[in-house]
Amino acid sequence: MNLHEYQGKEILNSFGVRIQRGIVAHNHKEAVDAAKQLTSETGTSWYVVKAQVHAGGRGKGGGVKLAKNLQEVESIASDIIGMMLVTPQTSAEGKKVNQVLICEDVYYPGESETEEYYISVLLNRETGRNMIMYSTEGGMDIETVADETPHLIFTEDIDPCLGLLPFQARKIAFNLGLSGGALKEMVKFVSALYTAYIKSDSSMFEINPVLKTSDDKILAVDAKVSLDDSALYRHKDYAEMRDLREESPIEVEANAAGLNYVDLEGNVGCMVNGAGLAMGTMDLIKQSGGEPANFLDVGGTANAERVEKGFRIILKDPAVKAILVNIFGGIVRCDRVAQGIVDAYKNMGDDIKVPIIVRLQGTNAIEAKQLIDDSGLPVHSVVEFQEAADKVQEMLA
Ligand code: GDP
Ligand code: MN
Repeated sequence: MNLHEYQGKEILNSFGVRIQRGIVAHNHKEAVDAAKQLTSETGTSWYVVKAQVHAGGRGKGGGVKLAKNLQEVESIASDIIGMMLVTPQTSAEGKKVNQVLICEDVYYPGESETEEYYISVLLNRETGRNMIMYSTEGGMDIETVADETPHLIFTEDIDPCLGLLPFQARKIAFNLGLSGGALKEMVKFVSALYTAYIKSDSSMFEINPVLKTSDDKILAVDAKVSLDDSALYRHKDYAEMRDLREESPIEVEANAAGLNYVDLEGNVGCMVNGAGLAMGTMDLIKQSGGEPANFLDVGGTANAERVEKGFRIILKDPAVKAILVNIFGGIVRCDRVAQGIVDAYKNMGDDIKVPIIVRLQGTNAIEAKQLIDDSGLPVHSVVEFQEAADKVQEMLA
């Protein structure tokens, strides 16, 4: 589950990670009140208005703007709230901005001694350990740094039993070119950041930029936080931070129905039981010249109700030109699934306007094929994987 910047910063702050202070506003009036409150709390006279959407690169898209007085806060906030923000990480259509974060300005004007760094904490899947990834090239898109100057990206693997050791935090600060008070501040920052990552059961923290002010304070100016969904039951307060407006509506509906669904770009809808088979089926579709429109794992109980729900969800995507159902009957019997498909089809009638190719393999596969063939419905039943691929190709031609 992804969080907004302001929510990520709240979590960081609760673990003692120093952050750029900010207050959320939903309209221009709240924005001005927020700015006044920030001035009374921090003494700041300039502000930064930041669009809160689940996408990076907001600065480049015009979603982060400096305001030098309250009038500017008001007009910039009015412009940004409600806009469709397009960034390198959104679709061409962009994301609607429902709220902004009004922040204190932390780049002391006219000072050249501020520095921006990149620091993230994430799971290194190759070593199976958490790692801290960091770079002197903060404020830039890290993918670009990785492409152009990979030697400027460092990593530090963390032993799960020992946690982040003091020498590792010092090494990070040292590699970032710090010394004296700034080095000490960075050691504190990195240690608190790692603790926050572990205690919040996160799967990724990305702080870009981490700022060193001219008076050697180290703070998080941005925060991209992903929480581990499987651990949310331990953090009821974080679970409430979910903003469904930021998620794909089809995915939200599918998840509510207990279906594991991921929206993709292609034209062939897939309904499969089991994540591994779903991946294999997507490969098959690609090899037969199609592009999967989704990943959909209906799970172990592929009954009529779930199959119907699955069809309905797949068909919400207008790009779908054919549906491939690929079910392995291990625990669930194929004839049960076939009956489910027939029932679902009858229920939905005219709602299904694309060809459906069904491959049922495993327990009672023959009975299942018979059931579908006898139903008289325009459902193409096949037995072999390759047959299914050929049929998809034929249907798309
Ligand atoms: P992103 O573009 O979505 O990654 O959003 P960020 O939160 O990283 O902000 C984008 C850029 O805005 C930063 O890299 C900074 O250059 C700039 N910025 C953020 N906060 C401040 C601030 O307090 N003062 C000034 N002058 N610039 C800021
Ligand atoms: Mn950023």
